[in-house]
Amino acid sequence: MAHARADHPDEACGIIAGPADSGVPTRHVPMVNAERSTTFYRFDPTEQLRLWRQMDDQDEVPTIIYHSHTATEAYPSRTDVSFAGEPDAHYVLISTQDPQVADVRAFRIVDSQVTEEAIEAYGEVPDRKNGGDPYACQSYKFGHSPDVVLYDC
Ligand SMILES: [Zn+2]
Repeated sequence: MAHARADHPDEACGIIAGPADSGVPTRHVPMVNAERSTTFYRFDPTEQLRLWRQMDDQDEVPTIIYHSHTATEAYPSRTDVSFAGEPDAHYVLISTQDPQVADVRAFRIVDSQVTEEAIEAYGEVPDRKNGGDPYACQSYKFGHSPDVVLYDC
């Protein structure tokens, strides 16, 4: 989340890897948006290849693939859907269009079919009314996989 805001107005992207079959994301890897674009993202192919090989070696999978939308809502764009090649990943979208609202949504994208997942923020919820930072460190839980906890800082 902090990563998304730091790169605003460009879209930020990255993954959170976790041990295969565990469903638990443990390693946050911020990645370069090769497009440096305000409207879409693409992982740098060299970086992606290196990271995917590294995950293979360590028996990891990209549990979460995230990127930000800086001028639109947190919903996958047509480009996002066409580039989505990991049916087992949670695609997390973060919208930074409103600096006061932390808009985070999670999706599965399988064969171009987008399914929204329940996502629940819990733990310390920032007090927005009193000028709290809406992007402060927070934990998220995905509805369909209760074991998954993402510490998104
Ligand atoms: Zn997008």
